[in-house]
Amino acid sequence: MKLRNMEELASKKVLDKFYQEYVIEVEPQHKFKCKVCGKLFKGADFVRKHIEYKHHDTVEAITKFFNSYVLYFQPHHPNDPIQQLH
Ligand SMILES: [Zn+2]
Repeated sequence: MKLRNMEELASKKVLDKFYQEYVIEVEPQHKFKCKVCGKLFKGADFVRKHIEYKHHDTVEAITKFFNSYVLYFQPHHPNDPIQQLH
């Protein structure tokens, strides 16, 4: 698999995990809560959209952290597209 794809896959996975963690179902009211600010929404999708829009910085910070973590542990191949840039 190409490094670029792996990166994208990793960010997708970390995003999914992020939403799993930050979209909280509130059972009695059948509503969904944003863990970052505590706002309630009618559906999980609304919370995702809200997080994307309002908490973009939080999402970005977490994905960036995760990506650098993943890349740090990537073995460096001679054909590594990133290495070729140097
Ligand atoms: Zn929020």
